[in-house]
Amino acid sequence: MIYNTAPGSGGRRITLPDHRTKIVSTIGPASRSCEVLVRMIQAGMNVARLNLAHGTFEEHRENIRNIRAASEETGLPVTILIDLPGPKIRVGALAEEPMILQKGESVTLVPAAASDDPFTIPVDFEQFPQMVSPGSTIYLGDGFLQVQVEEAREREVMARVVLGGPLLSRKGVSVIGGESVLAVSAPTPRDLECIEFGLSEGLDVFGISFVRRAEDIRRAREHAARFGKSIHVIAKIERAEALANIDAILQETDGVMIARGDLGIQTPIEDVPIVQKRIILKANILGRPVITATQMLMSMTENIRPTRAEVTDVANAILDGTDAVMLSEETSIGNHPVETVAMMAKIARSTEASRQVIGTGSATLEHFRQGMERERITVNDVVSLNVIQALDALGIRYVLTPTRSGTTPRSISRFKPAAWILAFTRSPETFRFLAFSCGVCPFLVKSEKDYRHRAILDMIRESGLVAPGERVVLTEGVSPGGRGTNSLVILTLD
Ligand code: ATP
Ligand code: MG
Repeated sequence: MIYNTAPGSGGRRITLPDHRTKIVSTIGPASRSCEVLVRMIQAGMNVARLNLAHGTFEEHRENIRNIRAASEETGLPVTILIDLPGPKIRVGALAEEPMILQKGESVTLVPAAASDDPFTIPVDFEQFPQMVSPGSTIYLGDGFLQVQVEEAREREVMARVVLGGPLLSRKGVSVIGGESVLAVSAPTPRDLECIEFGLSEGLDVFGISFVRRAEDIRRAREHAARFGKSIHVIAKIERAEALANIDAILQETDGVMIARGDLGIQTPIEDVPIVQKRIILKANILGRPVITATQMLMSMTENIRPTRAEVTDVANAILDGTDAVMLSEETSIGNHPVETVAMMAKIARSTEASRQVIGTGSATLEHFRQGMERERITVNDVVSLNVIQALDALGIRYVLTPTRSGTTPRSISRFKPAAWILAFTRSPETFRFLAFSCGVCPFLVKSEKDYRHRAILDMIRESGLVAPGERVVLTEGVSPGGRGTNSLVILTLD
């Protein structure tokens, strides 16, 4: 389970995890202690997600400190993903948490950041009462709680509970069949503040909520550029407009998240499975890492064992070709954050072992083999296809890829080979973003000379990963003066 991403000088032995799918966990009250974080990292967490829609900057600053300390303690890298709140209406601070909504009872919703009355639900959007009318249905959270509006006054909405349960502060509020406030585009002014917060903490991977088009992503990048920083962006796909513009969004973004929670509210819930498959295939074809998110092991928020349906959902996302799987409530407020991560890792290991056997996951390969979009094919596409061929034909277990931007390891990763992709980079940003790519183990190397074949091969020899006489694939850029990978060699280690 332990693997090492420090530069491999001095004969370091390396052990890789026994699964290749990356695990993203949301950090919250249940998981923010250093002690729990250490165990989550050891169980297989690759990315810690901080949802800035919840908690204060101060709290997240402490989370960041703890995540870094836990990473240091385990000697394992963790990438921090800052998830921006986006233009989403949320419940304000409740007087008492949880507020229990009983079916059939009447509740009052008021536009306010907080309420001190335990029977009133504050909604943090001034124009909220104007969005609803008698008969509108309001979803709270991802739709588990529902109330129906009976009367909408100037500053007060009376509603009756249709689906009851416990309500927490900061849960999403969606009006079904009502006017959309999501006319507001992302990133919002608050999102831009959150980007500044992240940059000031030395972070560079941001999730953008409620993306509508490529322009939204460019605006986030431009904001970071004002501070002289370049960031990696993950577009969260959760609204109908994003589906309509998915090709342009994928071109612009570095990665995507299939945010199934809001997607199942903003678009018909029964379409979610097919949308998931379509986006994963498109993202794979372009070599953009893709995260499948929301309710993957939801019942583990309470229970120590997941349902069969949840285990199957995780496995199916992997068979669809997802790079990463994500945990939300399960790790942020759940009872068993460590066990949930360990369960993800276990499902991933078992599913990946059969990926090739049962023949799914080859759709990306088929896309290229059938000569689709031949006019757009790049040198990188051709190199990565040849790498896959070499791996298959010779049963090779490791591909070694020196990389600046991470494009080469990502373009091999999209085919989800059984071999590990060991990526060597000098760029800390590239190193951190490779945490999202399935089957890629990134190494941060110190100097230009560590890139050279000899240094990489020495390191691999000393790592204990390969047996003497074993073949490996190495990608390289050999064209004089050119940048970028354009060839591959097959080497036998002595
Ligand atoms: P999103 O639409 O961004 O997914 P969400 O409200 O569904 O927003 P998640 O990040 O999916 O939030 O997390 C699930 C739940 O875990 C949240 O609704 C919240 O109750 C809880 N949670 C997450 N992060 C925190 C935090 N930092 N502090 C307190 N609770 C948190
Ligand atoms: Mg959620």
